[in-house]
Amino acid sequence: MKNLLDNILSFFNSTEEEEFYYVKMERNEKCYCDSGKKYKTCHYPDHQKRSKLAVRKVDDKTGEHEIKIMSIKKLRKEHFRVKSSVS
Ligand SMILES: [Zn+2]
Repeated sequence: MKNLLDNILSFFNSTEEEEFYYVKMERNEKCYCDSGKKYKTCHYPDHQKRSKLAVRKVDDKTGEHEIKIMSIKKLRKEHFRVKSSVS
């Protein structure tokens, strides 16, 4: 019985990371930091300097999302996960 449970758990763990996608933050959107400013006039210049970009990591199942600051390099590598908008 314990083995079965372990198998189920490892099944969930192995598929979990595939069930999300990224949505790039638009420059004209309000910044994620709650400053009230637009992203382009708030954190964007700083991110650009460091070759980073704010993205929403969206859970494909629940629709929950969290803000991530990702390097553009990594984002390019995971381009297949990047969608243009929240579906
Ligand atoms: Zn900001």
